[in-house]
Amino acid sequence: MRKLAILTSGGDSQGMNTAIRTVAKAAMNKGWEVYGIRRGYKGMLDDDIFKLSPLDVAGLTGKGGTKLLTARLPEFKYPEVRAKAAENLKKRGIDQLVVIGGDGSFHGAHYLYEEHGIKTVGIPGTIDNDIAGTEQTIGFDTTLNIVSDFISKVSDTAKSHERTMFVEVMGRNCGDIALFGGVAAAANGILIPEVEWKIEDIENIVKRRRANGKNYNIIVVAEGVGNTHEIAKELATRMPELDIRVSVIGHMQRGGAPSANDRLLATKLGIAAVDILDKGEQAGVMVGIDRNNVSVHKLSYAWENYSSKNNKDFYDIAMMLSV
Ligand code: ATP
Repeated sequence: MRKLAILTSGGDSQGMNTAIRTVAKAAMNKGWEVYGIRRGYKGMLDDDIFKLSPLDVAGLTGKGGTKLLTARLPEFKYPEVRAKAAENLKKRGIDQLVVIGGDGSFHGAHYLYEEHGIKTVGIPGTIDNDIAGTEQTIGFDTTLNIVSDFISKVSDTAKSHERTMFVEVMGRNCGDIALFGGVAAAANGILIPEVEWKIEDIENIVKRRRANGKNYNIIVVAEGVGNTHEIAKELATRMPELDIRVSVIGHMQRGGAPSANDRLLATKLGIAAVDILDKGEQAGVMVGIDRNNVSVHKLSYAWENYSSKNNKDFYDIAMMLSV
């Protein structure tokens, strides 16, 4: 009997559960034995691997978080650690693995295929949207909805009190959450790691808005840009007349029910992952979405082709609209 294992790894994202459920159901439907691995590569190393029943994956479509739990295991970069983890699959006769996670998790899946012949398929599950080979990652859309809703609410109170509000969002190397969430909520300034900025830029936006009779400002800051409180202080020094506040969204960006779009994306990609394994022609690959069609690339494509500077044009549009 064919055997498949599923794990989630790295930061959690909304829709990981939908992907788990889809992959498990599709594989069970083919008569395969399906296993869950708890806590990603850590569970693979610790032998925390268990057989999934249809009931285990029932009711997961709209649930936030990941039922399989997630963790980080930095030691997975060592070949001997991967060998020990791979052995725990092999001793059960499991030679197929679906990895739901970000580009770090895809590195692990790449090595498991190259070094141990485990037929891996990666499904991009991360709120950051920082993977090449897919237009969107699972969780990004839900996070954008949370962020834009949060900014809109903050805007209401900023307008009433004529304040300048800094809103810090997630995104260490990739500013997509700040950029797209900011545009969706009509932010006035957006600071992302991909684009150089100076405090004078914010000062200018505030001044131009003031000249237009607008006495409130919303500046969205991706966490990778620097310390938001320090940036706010710097602006306060230059413009002491402003009433400035800082609001940090934090971990609620990762939680809650996945949006319908994320559920559909996770479903499409989950089905595609099992189909690829079923055909048996490809492995060590990732699935993604490209103009509404499923795309398939080698796992290494995810990091070798990623450019965090893709969005400069959209950033310019955002700035044009900001005043
Ligand atoms: P996110 O960016 O959304 O948090 P991610 O999958 O990129 O997701 P990472 O923490 O970078 O998150 O990686 C998750 C796990 O993947 C790591 O803890 C480690 O176990 C494994 N991993 C990361 N990089 C490598 C690597 N170079 N080689 C082998 N395994 C890796």
